[in-house]
Amino acid sequence: MVSRVIPVDTFDLVIFGGTGDLARRKILPGLYRRFLAGQMPTDARIVGAARGALDDAGYRKFVGEAIEEFVSEKKRDKKKIAAFLDQLSYLTVDARGTAGWKELATKIRKDCVQAFYFSVGPGLFGDIATRLHKYKIANDTSRIVVEKPFGRDLESAHALNEVLAASFDEHQIYRIDHYLGKETVQNLMAVRFANVLFEPLWNAQYIDHVQITVSETVGVGGRGGYYDKSGAMRDMIQNHLMQLLCLTAMEPPSKFDPDAVRDEKLKVIRALDDLVPDDIVRGQYGADADGPSYLEDSENPDSRTESFIALRCHISNWRWKGTPFYLRTGKRLKARVSEIVVYFKETPHSIFDEDAGSHANVLTIRLQPDEGMDMRVTIKEPGPGGMRLVDVPLDMTFADALGPEAKDVPDAYERLIMDVIRGNQTLFMRGDEVEAAWRWTDPIIAGWQARGDKPKVYEPGSSGPEDALMLLHQDGRRWREIKS
Ligand code: NAD
Repeated sequence: MVSRVIPVDTFDLVIFGGTGDLARRKILPGLYRRFLAGQMPTDARIVGAARGALDDAGYRKFVGEAIEEFVSEKKRDKKKIAAFLDQLSYLTVDARGTAGWKELATKIRKDCVQAFYFSVGPGLFGDIATRLHKYKIANDTSRIVVEKPFGRDLESAHALNEVLAASFDEHQIYRIDHYLGKETVQNLMAVRFANVLFEPLWNAQYIDHVQITVSETVGVGGRGGYYDKSGAMRDMIQNHLMQLLCLTAMEPPSKFDPDAVRDEKLKVIRALDDLVPDDIVRGQYGADADGPSYLEDSENPDSRTESFIALRCHISNWRWKGTPFYLRTGKRLKARVSEIVVYFKETPHSIFDEDAGSHANVLTIRLQPDEGMDMRVTIKEPGPGGMRLVDVPLDMTFADALGPEAKDVPDAYERLIMDVIRGNQTLFMRGDEVEAAWRWTDPIIAGWQARGDKPKVYEPGSSGPEDALMLLHQDGRRWREIKS
């Protein structure tokens, strides 16, 4: 199978924060890969806009070096890189001042798709939106891409929504959550809604529970100050894990269209029960030979910010009543893994004798490190000697069946940027969704603060605090082992 590259209309893309870490590691290398795939029109233009004084040549050198560092060798073609860099330029712009804005207004074409990527600190999102409007740079069809974090609580997220809404309509605002750009996340929707096989079973009658895990091996070293004001609840649960929960639990939308999908996701968040303290375990990593403790990394010896969280939540609707969703995320854990694991119930009655054991189907949707999906099914162990049952994985990625191109999955940022250019908001968060998620998490955080809860210390390289294991043991279940 040859992968299909759907051409996009020509565009001017301005990357505010075009010299920053995210632009260097993800956005610009991703755009080069789209160029290489033949998806970027030859007259499309990318403008790096940031505070530093650079000229076009200096910026092209900076981007060329980023490609050297972050694009695999087999995709680095000198001529192609030079042609890509030709489509780039740079402008010094001060998000909080006047420098560069008039120049930007004359530079940007009015007769093509305009996209403005806010790859800057969240404190500048409002300043940039306001100036794009004030200097008449953006128009009714321009798109803005807003990075995370989108607020730190309901109040700040609402205020940010209001500031953006003063200059842009909701259909112009693309709040990015790169987890939604993962191939497997979209595959989850395909598997659920393009097969008759799963949807009839996708409910509390047949699904015992769901586990969503996002674990990292690294700590917060280097950005401890920032992280200490955030913590795992704000940094990971409120956005990434809740988005994965929504896609797993939502009702089938009437069509695969931005508002239909986002309406269904919003209903899931609104149906979440409030959590009680016994539903949550918070942790902070200790020190080991490989690195300092969270308290040392954060440079705040009294910090009560969590670097780990595990929680049990329930969705109060007909589909899910009685099926818990367990969410877990943390730093300095055993392995780097992001996965959704759906545990089906056992058959209501086994016709086989006790030696056959008890078996249940498990569907694993893996986002990291290697994207893929498999279903554990029970079969007869081959050979003579009676009926022995064995669980085997059924690979559902079918990468081999689709040919080698299917393994060359575009990075989430590449896909999402192209969706912005196409004007497709399906994989971006809507303002009311983000606010609903904060509305659910705010009281939980406020509860910890009011009680002065201290996170439990856990061993680096482990699966988190013992209490997190107990959270499932109490329910007669166990976490899937964290392994890459
Ligand atoms: P960074 O500090 O590396 O870069 C910031 C950029 O903003 C620089 O280009 C800088 O010149 C520019 N800038 C700062 N002040 C400015 C001003 N007054 N006017 C114009 N430009 C100004 O930050 P980053 O790591 O690239 O992060 C950018 C955004 O992306 C943040 O919102 C961050 O939370 C988010 N994000 C980053 C990552 C990542 O991996 N780096 C991942 C997810 C989200």
